[in-house]
Amino acid sequence: MTVGRFAPSPSGRMHLGNLFTALLAWLSVRAQNGKMLLRIEDLDPARSKREYIDALREDLHWLGLDWDEEMPLQSTRSAVYAEAFSRLDTYPCYCTRNALHDASAPHASDGMFVYAGTCRNLSDAERAKKQRKPAWRVRVPDETIRFTDGVYGAQEEQLAQECGDFIVRRSDGVYAYQLAVVCDDALGGVTEVVRGSDLLGSTARQIWLYGVLGFSAPKFYHIPLLVAPDGKRLSKREKSLDMAHLREDHTPEALIGRLANLAGLTKSDVPIAAKELIPFFSWEKIGREPVIIPTTF
Ligand code: GLU
Repeated sequence: MTVGRFAPSPSGRMHLGNLFTALLAWLSVRAQNGKMLLRIEDLDPARSKREYIDALREDLHWLGLDWDEEMPLQSTRSAVYAEAFSRLDTYPCYCTRNALHDASAPHASDGMFVYAGTCRNLSDAERAKKQRKPAWRVRVPDETIRFTDGVYGAQEEQLAQECGDFIVRRSDGVYAYQLAVVCDDALGGVTEVVRGSDLLGSTARQIWLYGVLGFSAPKFYHIPLLVAPDGKRLSKREKSLDMAHLREDHTPEALIGRLANLAGLTKSDVPIAAKELIPFFSWEKIGREPVIIPTTF
């Protein structure tokens, strides 16, 4: 059975971009009579707010996007991540942000840095001299990861050269998204991951982690980002596109009808309920180009 999930971060009110991801993840699961999970990513205690968690569930209800099960909040799962972490070949990294900027090459796809390996082979004596709390990196092998994305097609990444050893636990003790997302989706039995194309560049390292931890990887569908007419990515700061404002100006059906039409799922933008849209859904209709959202949405 297909098991899909929607994994929002409660660092703000849900936005049109999150709605687009939730809608496609939900349609894909419902079109296959699968099971939908809600999995709230409140990993970062400094950025996650209780009020946004409540608003998320309420906004999804209002939109008619239901779920069959809710996974435990990430903030309650450090023991799960700690167990996975203990099975990885990791080392402490003491580099400051500035040192990383100076020594590293930009990551090919997501603007992060390919770690230069500065702390990879420090001796115990050298480590003992360091004054700061370390982040923890996992040692990646010289291996090429290949996978087929359901929207963007064949992908490959040479882990050592294009990604480098990456952080799995931050210096403040919080386990990194890259590790948590793999544990949570694997243990939740997720078989397909639908999310924004900004995460396409993280997928190879996640697939590698699935393998190292003895999990089987799901199928990935990365979806185009929503952009303004000038091509710039819609920012979370654009208040008129957060759910509080969208709900003032639209019915759920009107909102879904317009978004479905802009995304190419339907021929007109007449209001439509999420569940009436299920028969119109097909991954073939979803293009790779960014979806342009008019200024007067
Ligand atoms: N929590 C991430 C976000 O809201 C999504 C992570 C994922 O789907 O893997 O952008």
